[in-house]
Amino acid sequence: MRIIMLGPPGAGKGTYAKRLVQRFDIPQISTGDILRAAVKEGSELGKKAKSFMDSGSLVPDDLIMDIIRERISQDDCGSGFIFDGFPRTIPQAESLSVLLKELNIRLNAVVNVDLADDILVRRLTSRRTCAKCGEIFNVLSMPPKVEGVCDKCGGELMQRDDEKEDTIRHRLEVYKEETYPLIAFYKDSGLLKSIAPEADGSVEANVAAILKALGTE
Ligand code: ADP
Ligand code: ZN
Repeated sequence: MRIIMLGPPGAGKGTYAKRLVQRFDIPQISTGDILRAAVKEGSELGKKAKSFMDSGSLVPDDLIMDIIRERISQDDCGSGFIFDGFPRTIPQAESLSVLLKELNIRLNAVVNVDLADDILVRRLTSRRTCAKCGEIFNVLSMPPKVEGVCDKCGGELMQRDDEKEDTIRHRLEVYKEETYPLIAFYKDSGLLKSIAPEADGSVEANVAAILKALGTE
């Protein structure tokens, strides 16, 4: 199964991608997670990406494509992958098409998760991420059992630097300009499955809707 999760920041792509990982036993490839790990490590990639990320702007396409090329050639991607947060621009999507053709593989679906802006802002400012394992919580909708502590690994929950309100507004604008056009791009290829989650719907219900859209309930 080869899936792209598309949608604005805060729509829940990462959360749903993690569920699909369990269901299909394929890796989640989150360019955001890979970049954050690189920044933390202080690698060359991290140094190049940091300022873009902190301001909520996009990291240049060529850096992103280098990451993807190297990541999908790894063994665990043999039976598929879930892209989460990639592609983010039309040039990235075009490069991906070329790359997949070279590798002689095809995408199965592009899942578009959409939500209204005010809900996105509310969600993003209430999001907390485990500093140790990356698990995502939400103080409003998915609180941890103990405040500030990860349910999964006991790590400390943090608010990301790019989750302050101003930066979030900027990220939403960047999404509209750069990423939203991908919906039409993938609609044309017949791969697009859109789901519009209920703002207060459960994760389970939304995962079920995605599996149904994928034809694999
Ligand atoms: P979000 O919560 O908005 O989905 P991510 O965790 O996917 O955020 O990404 C965080 C930041 O990393 C983005 O704001 C951007 O700077 C950078 N980034 C991640 N993926 C990409 C990509 N495919 N292209 C360009 N920049 C990216
Ligand atoms: Zn954790």
